Amino acid sequence: MSNSTKYIFVTGGVTSSLGKGIISASLATLLQSRGYSVTIQKLDPYINIDPGTLNPYEHGECFVTDDGAETDLDLGHYERFLNVPTSQANNVTTGRIYQSVIEKERKGEFLGKTVQVIPHITDEIKERIQILGNKGTFDIVITEIGGTVGDIESLPYVEAVRQMVWEFDNDCIVVHLTLIPYLSAAGELKTKPTQHSVKQLLELGVQPDILCCRTEHPLGLDLRKKIAKFCNVSMNAVIESIDAKTIYEVPFLMQEEELDKVVLEKLGLPTKSTANMSKWKKFIDRINNPKTTINIGLVGKYVELKDSYKSISESFIHAGAENECQVNLVWLHSEKLNSNNVEKKLSGLDGILVAPGFGSRGIAGKIEAVRYARENNVPFFGICLGMQCAVIEFARHVLGHEEAHTTEISEDCPYPVISMMEEQKTISNMGGTMRLGAYKCQLKPGSKASKAYNTDKISERHRHRYEFNNDFLKEFEAAGMIATGKNPESGLVEVIEIPEHPWFVGAQFHPEYKSTVANPHPLFVAFVEAAITNKKN
Ligand code: GLN
Repeated sequence: MSNSTKYIFVTGGVTSSLGKGIISASLATLLQSRGYSVTIQKLDPYINIDPGTLNPYEHGECFVTDDGAETDLDLGHYERFLNVPTSQANNVTTGRIYQSVIEKERKGEFLGKTVQVIPHITDEIKERIQILGNKGTFDIVITEIGGTVGDIESLPYVEAVRQMVWEFDNDCIVVHLTLIPYLSAAGELKTKPTQHSVKQLLELGVQPDILCCRTEHPLGLDLRKKIAKFCNVSMNAVIESIDAKTIYEVPFLMQEEELDKVVLEKLGLPTKSTANMSKWKKFIDRINNPKTTINIGLVGKYVELKDSYKSISESFIHAGAENECQVNLVWLHSEKLNSNNVEKKLSGLDGILVAPGFGSRGIAGKIEAVRYARENNVPFFGICLGMQCAVIEFARHVLGHEEAHTTEISEDCPYPVISMMEEQKTISNMGGTMRLGAYKCQLKPGSKASKAYNTDKISERHRHRYEFNNDFLKEFEAAGMIATGKNPESGLVEVIEIPEHPWFVGAQFHPEYKSTVANPHPLFVAFVEAAITNKKN
C-alpha cells in the first residue's frame, strides 16, 4: 500500500518529561524550513475526553485552537515553532477514541460484531492519525505518542503504530526518544535503560528507525556505536539530544546532528537542499544578546507549576526578542497578595500581568494587583479573568460600587459587572460549555490595541463563560475605562483600556495562544515596550 503523505511517529522511553513535544516541533521546523508542509499531532493516552476539564496542576495549561478545541499544551509548542494553526484533529485522547467507538457501537455500525481493542480501537486510532494525512495539505504528519512505552495506557497506540508501519511500509518511520543517564559516581553515561526501552518496543513489534538520545553530556563515538549495535539502528540514526539553554535552540542542535537529513533518507525523500534557518537564527541571536532587561510580575494562582502559564511565558520570550529585551518573569501567587503587602511585593516591577483563571481562589489578590498597577501608572495587561478583575476593580474603586463582582463568584451581587451570557445559562454539563475558539473583534481607531495590531479588525481565541456586562458600559466609559474592542456581531466587549494610563489593557480573549517565533503577539510586544519605557522613566 502506498500513500503520498509520510508519517513520522515519535515515541518515548525510559521516563516521561524527556521533551517529545520539543523534539517533534524541532524536527518539524527543520522539515518545514526545507520546504515541506508539516503538521504535528499529539495522541494522549488518558481517558479524559480533552484536557479542558483537567486541573492545570495535572498537565499544565490547556491550549485552545482556532476551532475551539481544548488541547494539550504541546500543541502550543507546535504552533509557536511552525507558525501554522492546529485544530481538534491535532489532539486525540483515549477518552475521545473510546467515546467515538462506543457511539458507533450504539448506532449498530459494527453489525453485531464483538467490539475489541484490536481491531476497533486501533482502527479508530489509525483513522485519527490519517485524518490529517488525507487532507492533502500536508507532506508529512508527525504523530507524538504521549506517555512512555511500556505504560498500559500506551499499548493500543503502539499497536496502531505497528500496524501502520506494516501497512504503509516506506511511508512511515519511528523516532524513539530515550534517556542516556549520567552516573556521576561512575563518571559514565549509561546505555542500558535505552537498550531496555528499545527491547520493550520490539516486544510490541515496533523497530525504531531513529533514536533521539536525551543526555546531559555529549555522546562519544563508542557509545553511539554501542547503542546502534544493541538497538539495530544505523550509526547516523543515533541522534544526540543534549540539554539546551532554551527550547528554541533545539532545532539547531537537531540540525547539527542531521536529524532532518536522516529522517528524509529513511522516508525516501530528497536530501540535497538544506534547511534555511536564517530567520530562526536571528531570533536566537536576539534572545542571547538583549540590550535591556525588565521585570514583569505575573500574578496567578497556579504559579507553583509554571507550565500552567506556558503560552504566556513563551509569548514574553517572543515579545522580548522583538524588543531586544530580556523579560524576567516575577511569579506572584495571587492568594498571597493583599492590601498590606501589595506595595512591597509589586514595587519595582516594570509591568504587571494578571493571568487567566477560574473560580474564587486568589481573586482578591488579583484585584489588589490591578489596583496597584492602575493607581501607580505601572503598565498593566489583564488576560481573560485578569481583564475581568480590572473591570471589577474599576467598578469598586473608581465607580464606587464596593460590592461589584463577577457572577461566577457572587451570583446575586448588586453590581454584576461581569456576568454570564443568557444563552449559556442553560448549559450545566462540564466541558465544551464555554465561548471557545476564534471570534472576530473590531478595535477602536486610535486605541492602544489598534496601534499595537496596526489594524482594526482582528480575530482572537477565547475560553471563558462570563462577559463584561454591557448594562454598565456607559458608566464605565464616562469614568475613563473604555471598551476599545467589541465583537462586531454580538457587541460583547473584548478589550478594555484606560486611555489616561500609560498602558492599561485588558483582553477578554487569550492573545498568548497566537504568539509564535515568526509572529510575536502585538499586544505582548506593545506591553513589553510600555514596560521598557516605564523602566526608563
Ligand atoms: N473564569 C472566567 C470566565 O469563565 C475567566 C476564564 C479565563 O480566564 N480563561 O469567564
